[in-house]
Amino acid sequence: MKTYRIASIPGDGIGKEVVPEGEKVLQALAAKNQDIQFEFQHFDWGGDYYRAHGVMMPADGLDPLRKVDAILFGSAGDPNIPDHITLWGLRLKICQGFDQYANVRPTRILPGIQTPLKNCTRDQLDWVIVRENSEGEYAGLGGRAHQGHPIEVASDMSILTRVGVERIQRYAFRLAQSRPRKHLTVITKSNAQRHGMVMWDEIAVQIAKEFPDVTWDKELVDAATARMVNRPESLDTVVATNLHADVLSDLAAALAGSLGIAPTGNIDPERRYPSMFEPIHGSAFDIMGKGLANPIGTFWSIVMMLEHLQEPTLAKLLMQVIEQVTANPSLHTRDLGGKAMMTEVTQAVCAGIERS
Ligand code: NAD
Ligand code: MN
Repeated sequence: MKTYRIASIPGDGIGKEVVPEGEKVLQALAAKNQDIQFEFQHFDWGGDYYRAHGVMMPADGLDPLRKVDAILFGSAGDPNIPDHITLWGLRLKICQGFDQYANVRPTRILPGIQTPLKNCTRDQLDWVIVRENSEGEYAGLGGRAHQGHPIEVASDMSILTRVGVERIQRYAFRLAQSRPRKHLTVITKSNAQRHGMVMWDEIAVQIAKEFPDVTWDKELVDAATARMVNRPESLDTVVATNLHADVLSDLAAALAGSLGIAPTGNIDPERRYPSMFEPIHGSAFDIMGKGLANPIGTFWSIVMMLEHLQEPTLAKLLMQVIEQVTANPSLHTRDLGGKAMMTEVTQAVCAGIERS
């Protein structure tokens, strides 16, 4: 019997609703497979914790997480706390503390889901966006001075290190190599950002030489948005800096049908630390507490978690069941134009696992 220790951090808003649903799905998989069990450790960090303790998570909070096999995360974001506090105090603290430098975001149009793109068939949109997750525009460097005075100044400094760029691009080339198309698009903005992005471009040329069987091209980030809409089939694996990929991946999620479906993994490819899996959506203040949240983004994130735990059979099984469920419009939540409640979707997925 293999036991996986999973840290469960629901966070805020609908994170508190979808993460428990994710745990149910993992329990259903364990019930089906007697060789495996999941042991959850729950952490009540987030906005409520902040109101009680003045911090989003304890200063030594990374210590108990160090021992787990993976982290299942919901969302950080509270209507009454500034977003930069919730984000930096919890999610980024974990991502940066555990040097989860590869943020991986698969995008596909699942069966039964409508894309807003006219004339785009399911096989024409199959992407994985690799986001640099440790530096760039979100390195946290910069500051403010003269606050409240007319001469007030504020700066955010983007930093790219050679090590940081090499490792994320190498990760992306390797991922591209593992996919049937073996194609990578390197997103840049070296026309306007004439230091860091120029180094980024130079490093791409260098890393590409290690992967002679991968074809690659380069696209400016603004042009990339148009290409995603107009020629989705021309893209496969994509690598971009932290901010660029943040923006592109929300666009990708919308083109694939809904923010409520899209998954992500914050991965430490060297496995020095646990990796963290989460739906890409936020706390969704407008629907929280109503049972309307789409849990599919969390379930697909669990598929990524199972792949990372090297349980490919379970990952494949769960993805098949998810696709059976999305194929049925009566199991669509409101974000997909349906009437199903979150718990009905979970029940259908758990029943599908049991039947499999
Ligand atoms: P959001 O993702 O919370 O919501 C955007 C829209 O999408 C809303 O209309 C929402 O109802 C809808 N939506 C999102 N997920 C859904 C789901 N699973 N099912 C159905 N509908 C869904 O983004 P936002 O409004 O920009 O941010 C709200 C808060 O969440 C902010 O505090 C923000 O900082 C935070 N946030 C956190 C994360 C994170 O922790 N990873 C990511 C994004 C936003
Ligand atoms: Mn984002």
